[in-house]
Amino acid sequence: MRHKPLIVDLSDIKSLSLGASLEIDVQGTPQELGLETEGVEFISPLRVQVNLLNERDVIDAKGKITTEIRLECNRCLNEFSRPFERGFHLEYHRGSPKVYEGEWELKSTDLEKIYYQGDAIDLRDGIRDEIFLGIPMKPLCQDTCLGLCPLCGQDLNKERCNCRRKDTE
Ligand SMILES: [Zn+2]
Ligand SMILES: [Zn+2]
Repeated sequence: MRHKPLIVDLSDIKSLSLGASLEIDVQGTPQELGLETEGVEFISPLRVQVNLLNERDVIDAKGKITTEIRLECNRCLNEFSRPFERGFHLEYHRGSPKVYEGEWELKSTDLEKIYYQGDAIDLRDGIRDEIFLGIPMKPLCQDTCLGLCPLCGQDLNKERCNCRRKDTE
């Protein structure tokens, strides 16, 4: 594996003709890929597949992240693991956001773009953001999870409790 597999040397892309694409398919630990993501526990290696399309000053990056993560159920608080797969589509534009009289020009279209300068594109931040976006806000171990009794804390998936019985009668 190359030292920094998700930092792409633009000479690799610019040598391609316009409209041609470069495939990246790497697998490794978050550390190896530079994708350590705070608050996310990966329990399998990450696989990142990216197709980089050369459109002169815009590099179009389409890809997929595949791994397995550990989550805590929002209802019963038990930990569980789940396959993670997320497709993404990012656009890298040469240059920097235009600045007028010291203020950032924040047109809504600009916010979706990622700017790059120099002779390499660093895909890591964009991919890390996609990992965050792909994680459910309120994960459930199963759709039918019964959660904990609000009164005694019993895990109702395992056993019903007496206070619950009173509620329903
Ligand atoms: Zn649960
Ligand atoms: Zn109870």
